[in-house]
Amino acid sequence: MKTWALSAFFVSALALAAHADVAVSGGRTDFLAVSHSAAAQKLTLTAPVFEIDGCAVTASVDRLDRVKGPTRLGNGVDESVWAGVLKDFPSARIAVTVRESPLTPVARFKYELSAAPGSSFRLTKKSGRDAIVYGTCGVSRWAKARTEVRFGEYDSLSHAYRPSEHDMPQRAFENSIAFQGPLLSFVGEDSAALLAYEHGSQAPDTYLEFACAQDETVALRAVKGNYPANRVVTEENPFESVWFQAAVVKGGADELAAAYRDFQLKRCTVNVGSRKPYVFYNTWASQERDKWWDKSGDFMRLMNEKRILEDVDIAHELGVDVFVVDVSWFKQTGDWIVDEKRFPHGLGVVRERLRKHGMKMGLWFNPTEAAKNSAMMARNRRSVMSFRGEESREHSVWSTPGSQNICVVSPYWKDFADRLIEIARELDVTYFKWDGISQFGCDSPDHDHGDATTTSADRHDCYSFEQVRYLCKIVDRICDAIPGAIVDFDVTEGGRCVGLAFLSSGKYFATNNGPYYPHIDVPYDWDTSDTWSNVFVYPGPARAWICRASLDYDRWIPSVLFLCHFLPDAPRESELINLGSLMLGPNGIWGNLQCVPPEGRRLFGEALAAYKHVRDDITAASPVRIGRIGSSPEIHEKIAPNGNGLFVMFANEGGDHVYVTEHSVAPVLWKSDGVAVEKDAKGRAVLRCHFEKASAAIVVFGDFGNTRKVPES
Ligand SMILES: [Zn+2]
Repeated sequence: MKTWALSAFFVSALALAAHADVAVSGGRTDFLAVSHSAAAQKLTLTAPVFEIDGCAVTASVDRLDRVKGPTRLGNGVDESVWAGVLKDFPSARIAVTVRESPLTPVARFKYELSAAPGSSFRLTKKSGRDAIVYGTCGVSRWAKARTEVRFGEYDSLSHAYRPSEHDMPQRAFENSIAFQGPLLSFVGEDSAALLAYEHGSQAPDTYLEFACAQDETVALRAVKGNYPANRVVTEENPFESVWFQAAVVKGGADELAAAYRDFQLKRCTVNVGSRKPYVFYNTWASQERDKWWDKSGDFMRLMNEKRILEDVDIAHELGVDVFVVDVSWFKQTGDWIVDEKRFPHGLGVVRERLRKHGMKMGLWFNPTEAAKNSAMMARNRRSVMSFRGEESREHSVWSTPGSQNICVVSPYWKDFADRLIEIARELDVTYFKWDGISQFGCDSPDHDHGDATTTSADRHDCYSFEQVRYLCKIVDRICDAIPGAIVDFDVTEGGRCVGLAFLSSGKYFATNNGPYYPHIDVPYDWDTSDTWSNVFVYPGPARAWICRASLDYDRWIPSVLFLCHFLPDAPRESELINLGSLMLGPNGIWGNLQCVPPEGRRLFGEALAAYKHVRDDITAASPVRIGRIGSSPEIHEKIAPNGNGLFVMFANEGGDHVYVTEHSVAPVLWKSDGVAVEKDAKGRAVLRCHFEKASAAIVVFGDFGNTRKVPES
């Protein structure tokens, strides 16, 4: 089965030649239009409609003036702000922020509704639900295929979020069905378009939706939590929408997906560190392994200076760029100070060892926890989470002094960001792993998600809605202060905010070890069992099938934004399967490094050294995939227009397979045993792979005169 195929040459030429042209006119039916330099069509949105003081008000204007910009941002994108007074409600003003670039057909935009100086009004919910339509667009010109692309669907078998595409047939329009998205793709005769919103949640828990109508229009509207009922709007306290994304391209669905993927990689965020294909190591799996396999009964036994220094040295041999110390390093939450019992010299010694190897340091945090006795809590008592009148109970976070949950949708967000900036400066930390962030749990009337004038349920919806926007504010503040910083949001469990919002500031940590026994209906006693609660923790092909699940995102969103760790353990076949898997973009290694034999370290070291020569090309290349994940063979081709790239074939048993690459290739830079490479007349690689048993064949293509080359066979 050919899942998708793209011509990288065609797509890249198209993406470069094609750019978004955003026209903001402010009219009732043509408020904002996105068109494309090479496509005749444009996607036009009507003016947003708000419920102001109980009445529906269309936010059209007679005139929009540019009040800011264009300002060139660090990612090559220009920002402009346009503003005007509402025709139907002159005491309100709407501002439109647009980010567009000659380098991408995808534009971002958001709306801000404010009151005239000295006046105010309320955003109401007469019907009991959010009453904002952000815009409606006609899609009749794109009738070949209309598709909802979901990013927040949880797959219980792989215990991970996975994307899925759902047809939006004519009968859905005839029956006024609504789709969650967050991205809709429309394909016509010679152009394709998309409309998306930057928010997330686990489907079908919906905060914004696309409502289809019989006249072949789609209305992007608020569902819940976008604002608290009776929210007061003034000049100083405007209502700000989420960001939206829209594009029109010449071509079809594949060209649209490739252009969008390129936008996500290069233009969506100014926090460019998050897009870099570093190789990561995280200590967590070795901690779990020590507890369950080595029966230490303790997740923390190995977490001390001596062991970490040894592991840093091995990680360096393997080719790791970023060494992440997971739970264990901190004395308590809130202040996030180093535990001097485990690290008597602080983390300075570890930092020095990492520096010596040219590696970076990463640390684990939970932004929603603060120890009761911390200075952070003393400053932010008002920000403790509460639900239905009950304050978060004191609990221990990984055996540290009692913590309470603390709400980021409150002034605490800035204090937390500033503490992380201090730590980054003190310890040279550039990577922050954020874990344990449930999207739910606060309905306090004392924070920034609704006050006592609205209901508990409304405040709770507003918390769940606002949480990711505040997380992004924290990330953006950190990245402003610490260039190149990366914040990773752990979404390895359900009920977390997965969608497009966080990706405009950081990246995701996608999968730990897949399912726990009870999640696949296998009995397991959480209280008494002394075996590992995860099913897929062993070396071999099976764990890698589960952990490659997030590669499904790579059609729309580069796989480098979905971190997942693979095991470097022997035997050689397992080493190759895990190496090939991580090189496809998940880019993580974990486990007990001291169990990796010297020849295994050499394999990872050599392969990843070759990978690093061409990893930017591999990351930028849209995927060609033959076979579903876990099939035999499962083939991945990620080759850039310059011929640099990666081929990986996985097989589940012995046998021979042959594959011809879609793209022409550069010379072989590194390859695993058992694969013979020839070039055909058009410069494509003909790859003959022989497997004795389940394993992987890997070839790195790259044209570098000064690099060690393996002769082509
Ligand atoms: Zn709160």
